[in-house]
Amino acid sequence: MVSNGKQIQWVCIYCGRKEWRKDWTGRPMPGLCNKRPYAKGPHRWIKNREMDGTK
Ligand SMILES: [Zn+2]
Repeated sequence: MVSNGKQIQWVCIYCGRKEWRKDWTGRPMPGLCNKRPYAKGPHRWIKNREMDGTK
């Protein structure tokens, strides 16, 4: 069965930016993070929390 509506909140460990994504869409786009300590590069997303999207 496909989970329908569950959402994952991802947070970037460098800049703290948060993005909500559907469970099945995977990580957000890497984008460009300007808070990385040494060199500019993509955000590094970690899973922050998840929520059942049915309302
Ligand atoms: Zn970032």
